[in-house]
Amino acid sequence: MYQPDSKIAEEFISDQEIKDTLAYADANKDNRELIISIIEKAKKLKGLSHREASVLLACEDKELIQKVFDLAIKIKEEFYGNRIVMFAPLYLANYCVNGCVYCPYHYKNKHIRRKKLSQEEIKKEVIALQDMGHKRLALETGEDPVNIPIEYVLESIKTIYGIKHKNGAIRRVNVNIAATTVENYKRLRDAGIGTYILFQETYHKDNYEVLHPTGPKHNYAYHTEAMDRAMEAGIDDVGIGVLFGLNMYRYDFAGLLMHAEHLEARFGVGPHTISVPRIRPADDVDPDEFENGINDDIFEKIVAILRVAVPYTGIIISTRETKESRERVLRVGVSQISGASSTSVGGYAEPEKPEDNSAQFERSDDRTLDEVVNWLLDLGHIPSFCTACYREGRTGDRFMSLVKSGQIANCCGPNAMMTLKEYLEDYASEDTKQKGEKVIKEALETITNPVVKQKAKEYIENIHEGKRDFRF
Ligand code: SF4
Ligand code: SF4
Repeated sequence: MYQPDSKIAEEFISDQEIKDTLAYADANKDNRELIISIIEKAKKLKGLSHREASVLLACEDKELIQKVFDLAIKIKEEFYGNRIVMFAPLYLANYCVNGCVYCPYHYKNKHIRRKKLSQEEIKKEVIALQDMGHKRLALETGEDPVNIPIEYVLESIKTIYGIKHKNGAIRRVNVNIAATTVENYKRLRDAGIGTYILFQETYHKDNYEVLHPTGPKHNYAYHTEAMDRAMEAGIDDVGIGVLFGLNMYRYDFAGLLMHAEHLEARFGVGPHTISVPRIRPADDVDPDEFENGINDDIFEKIVAILRVAVPYTGIIISTRETKESRERVLRVGVSQISGASSTSVGGYAEPEKPEDNSAQFERSDDRTLDEVVNWLLDLGHIPSFCTACYREGRTGDRFMSLVKSGQIANCCGPNAMMTLKEYLEDYASEDTKQKGEKVIKEALETITNPVVKQKAKEYIENIHEGKRDFRF
């Protein structure tokens, strides 16, 4: 039985409800009147249900889909302005007791090098990341209670926040570790994490169990209910996602939105972010096993529909994607991207030697952070290193009410300009600096609130004189 506010995974992600949703979407994919009414509803910026969004996904009418794309672009502009938030993953360790068939860290893989960074090595990595200009990290580990206990993760977070190198600082640490207990989530909350991120991979229970044949991750209910435990523990911001290419994408798309509806129904706050990774080649993973991969057109459509269905949620894309496919999804809805990522354990302070292979997946975008920033500026975006909300206590429902009222753009814009200014002063190449200064100058004039405009100008002048870390 489908119950969005249930605590039980199989009730809030009901297989029957997803099947009924897909049948409903198929039956209505040519129902022009219904599709137009869904698009009209989305224009009110209150989001769409998983059923409505699934009808849009099934629709193949080019003209109607173009309307969805146009709306996605407009909604993105309205909620967040043209800023794109930057982050980098930091892989702490790749020991893992699970047997996930799509991931090279699965415990049976003997040709991968197992590594765990010491606190000293973490310091070096973080200094290298700060020297690139990063301010926001996503910590990644495998699951291994013996080699990677929660105490290690907590100690690492403390180490990372404590490093102040030149003008650098990591101001927000998001954490992507295995599903755990309420007690451990409380400890992560107390350590000052930003978002807790956990991908569902697939919401299809039977497939989930086949893809995760052994280890604690095999337990579908424990994994699917992880965000409930995190929120019960007081973590306000959670990030969900599926790995597209593991199952029927339409099934997972509906499940993803049901998960968001569930969090909203139970806690009054939807997910802070949604990630849309696609499966990538990796060591000891056979890509031919995954026949449900999605092409660039469908990928772009998914992102655009997510943008209109959950307008208040950040959408994240990683360096799994090529420059070209990132460009397409940035246009229609992505609000956060990683740049210059290392997908190995370590790899920032010193590039990994081929014989030390510890990467989780092959990157499709291996440009430097400066190249990514430069490219974003060319595309008309403002690359942002902002971490203000979390540090100002704007998390959970406080954050959502700001976003839903459309007020967040008033913070995002000036914060993007100020953090970009820091980047230009401390890390940028001459060409990026020139482009960035021009963009900031123009963007400052677009701030409508005269008090904010005046303050932003002052802060930017202060940054030029050597001061750091201003925020709205
Ligand atoms: Fe381990 Fe995560 Fe990879 Fe699964 S996906 S093998 S849990 S690191
Ligand atoms: Fe993100 Fe808040 Fe900064 Fe906007 S102001 S970029 S929502 S942290």
